[in-house]
Amino acid sequence: MGTVAVNAAVESVLVPMVAHCLGCEGDWQCEDVPVACPACGSLDMDLGGGDELLLESIEYRG
Ligand SMILES: [Zn+2]
Repeated sequence: MGTVAVNAAVESVLVPMVAHCLGCEGDWQCEDVPVACPACGSLDMDLGGGDELLLESIEYRG
């Protein structure tokens, strides 16, 4: 698990985060953790990206 945590930290730097707003169902990329949704101002957000995006990019290149 220690190795996974280190890899995840590196991925978060290389791959932009993707935030998903639960208020307006909007998605956007961000380099820093967003304070609120830029579209509707909702504070209910899910942060994604990282692992899933990296796995997808590897598959596309593969
Ligand atoms: Zn929103």
